[in-house]
Amino acid sequence: MGETITLQRLLGMQKKVWNFKINADHETTELVAREQLKSFGQISRIGALIALPLTVYAMVLLFSYAEVGFIATACFYVAISAFVSVRNFLRQAALDPDTADYKVAIKNIHTESIISSIAFSCVLAIPFAFGQIPYNLDIAILAMGALVVGGFVFGSVPRAQTYNLSITTICYAGAFIAAKGYGGISTAILLIFFALCIDYIYRMFFFNFVQRHLHAAKQKDAAETVRLLLHDYAEQSSDWLWEVNGDHLIVNPSARFATAVDMEISELRDLPLVDLFEDSMERNQLAQSLASGKAFRDIHVPIKLGGEECWWRLSGRRIKTADGESSHIRGVAADITSAKKAEARVAHLAHFDSLTDLPNRALFNQSLQRSIGRMKNDQKLAVLYLDLDHFKTINDTLGHGAGDLVLKAVANRLENNIGIEDVVARLGGDEFAISLRNVGSYEDVMQVAANIIDKISEPVMVEGQPVATGVSIGIAVAPDCGNDGEELIKHADIALYNAKENGRGCASLFERSMHEAVQDRRNIEMDLRAALKRNELELYYQPLVNIETNETIGYEALLRWHHSEKGLIMPDVFIPVAEDTGLIVQLGEWVVRSALYEVAKWPEHLSVAVNLSPAQMRSPNLIPTIINALAATGVAPHRLELEITESVLMNDNQSNVELLHKIRSLGVRIALDDFGTGYSSLNYLRSFPFDKIKIDRCFVEEVDSREDCRAIIRAVTGLASSLGMVTTAEGVERSDQLSQLKEEGCVQVQGYLFSKAMPAANVEGRVETASASAAGAEASEIGEQKSTKSKRCKTPRKAQQRKAG
Ligand code: C2E
Ligand code: CA
Ligand code: CA
Repeated sequence: MGETITLQRLLGMQKKVWNFKINADHETTELVAREQLKSFGQISRIGALIALPLTVYAMVLLFSYAEVGFIATACFYVAISAFVSVRNFLRQAALDPDTADYKVAIKNIHTESIISSIAFSCVLAIPFAFGQIPYNLDIAILAMGALVVGGFVFGSVPRAQTYNLSITTICYAGAFIAAKGYGGISTAILLIFFALCIDYIYRMFFFNFVQRHLHAAKQKDAAETVRLLLHDYAEQSSDWLWEVNGDHLIVNPSARFATAVDMEISELRDLPLVDLFEDSMERNQLAQSLASGKAFRDIHVPIKLGGEECWWRLSGRRIKTADGESSHIRGVAADITSAKKAEARVAHLAHFDSLTDLPNRALFNQSLQRSIGRMKNDQKLAVLYLDLDHFKTINDTLGHGAGDLVLKAVANRLENNIGIEDVVARLGGDEFAISLRNVGSYEDVMQVAANIIDKISEPVMVEGQPVATGVSIGIAVAPDCGNDGEELIKHADIALYNAKENGRGCASLFERSMHEAVQDRRNIEMDLRAALKRNELELYYQPLVNIETNETIGYEALLRWHHSEKGLIMPDVFIPVAEDTGLIVQLGEWVVRSALYEVAKWPEHLSVAVNLSPAQMRSPNLIPTIINALAATGVAPHRLELEITESVLMNDNQSNVELLHKIRSLGVRIALDDFGTGYSSLNYLRSFPFDKIKIDRCFVEEVDSREDCRAIIRAVTGLASSLGMVTTAEGVERSDQLSQLKEEGCVQVQGYLFSKAMPAANVEGRVETASASAAGAEASEIGEQKSTKSKRCKTPRKAQQRKAG
């Protein structure tokens, strides 16, 4: 605010006169003041020139009319004031407006205006007032002239102008009144009116003058800012400026530009700009744009820097100068290599899998559709849908790093085992697809699939450890199974489902009937979610019998599902679905609680065995569920036996082993179920001290007819007893088997020979009569619809089902 007042005072505009008001800070005040000085310096000389004829004319008038004494006084007086004025004017003109003390200089102009206006007015006004010169038109013209010229000379310094106008007007108006009495009043008023008009006009001029200079100052400021910014831009930003002359040779290369191309500034100077870039379409485009002289934006040009393929983005336009456009072109360049690379990467990712670098589903679909389009009439094309077996277990037990390594290894093996015309893709997760072009017969396709299964089944080495892998394959062949890419993939997927159902590690060809099977499974999945809430699940119990005494020592709890529409559903059908969907965790907790609730009603010597899926092992709820159920029912922990399969111990799963130890430390017993159906069976006996081994039904099946089965059972019972474990033979259906098992040293038996699984109520009845016969004739009547011949041996898959999860 203070600054503004200074300015206005200095400029003579501290009051809002004639509506012209100016606000400016200290800097602009100085700027305007210096402009005033400059302008005054120029005008004052012209003003002096104009004042001269007026003065001469006034002298002529004096000489014509006035008395000699008066003339002599006037001449003397004029000489002195003219001398002072002229000296002042000259001094003012000699001032350097840019360096002078502008405050002093402006004040001098104020003084000057007072002196000169008194001098020039009085020389005529006084003789006139005293009647020395008669009243005539010349006087009026001279008075007007003095006003106009004074206004003109001091117009750029309003306060000086005000002094000048006031003094001149007062002098002449006074003179008119003195000379003519009342008659002079009207003339005096007219004069004052003119003076006011002149004041208004010159103040308006001055106001515009200031505005113009303020505007110019602002523009200069802006230009300076832009210049600084450009400088900053060139020196610091990731982009840099370039400039070429009319021949498109580089001029004024900046240090940054030179650094960017790793050249000396001197080398860059006068080099054709386009020569910096690699010969390419883009470079031609740049050359054309330069030649056209039109502004261009974002041309991407390849450039080799330090042996590396890089990309620059250039924009440019002709430089504008005061007299139009110059032939020079100036622009910015930016290194966009990383953006380009990212772009290429994104484009690649849109079609390729980032982990294995195999084509992804989208690209596979495209290429499949193309291949189908090119197929000739007699040709066949096969789509193989692959899913790794146990991959989830690998991921869960060994970590995602190991999982990734396995996926990469599998991708490698697949690529190495297909023809050059064939395409292998990763569809996501552990699913892959292969399209085989121009296959001969179905046998050929099955042969390729078998070969792939072999190759994938070789263990993958992860950090020096072999990790077991396997693959299931579903196959759909065009044109028989469809003529559309998507349809083929869908059918191959359905066939894959079938392959998994058949025990994994195998290939299945699509058949129309598979559709239904898939649909059934989907329905089961949906219904199973509701089954628990609707109380449709029930535990059946199958007795475990002491081979020596024929006494029932406990029961294995086996799940049954009473479906509202489909009737009784066996666990082989729904447990795998429950495992795949994760429902098994919830289901398994229910089983533990229900089984313990039941066993609590039985005599102390009877125990219960509960099957555990590997997915349950991963649930943090497992141990709390067991502890709570034991506490709630008051059942002694040793009466609970958990049956797990080998898959839980696969790949040296240390966390599962630890968990088993924890469970065992509660007093709960652990049994190894389905022994003999997995992989390197005997090894697992050493990784955890099981309480019991359950020998799978497939060995028991032929124990009475095949020596090798007997040998295996003998080996297992021998090893088990030396390790302090109990052996239970599963699936004993005939007494011949029983006697053979007794001979081979089995401790316990379980099977239809004694009883099928039965509802809890039957167990209670049995317990009460407590007279189970070794023949178990009555029990086989009970509740079990399952056929004895239904399954001979647990397939490896069944063993894995309980691990898959
Ligand atoms: P598993 O644990 O091996 O159970 C033994 C299976 O063999 C039972 O089939 C039983 O009914 C059947 N079996 C018993 N004796 C004989 C016989 O003399 N001959 C023949 N042919 N079969 C006999 P089930 O009840 O159908 O259970 C099938 C599988 O379902 C079980 O095999 C187990 O792996 C799974 N499972 C059953 N209940 C549960 C459960 O509560 N949780 C989990 N995770 N799995 C369960
Ligand atoms: Ca079992
Ligand atoms: Ca079993």
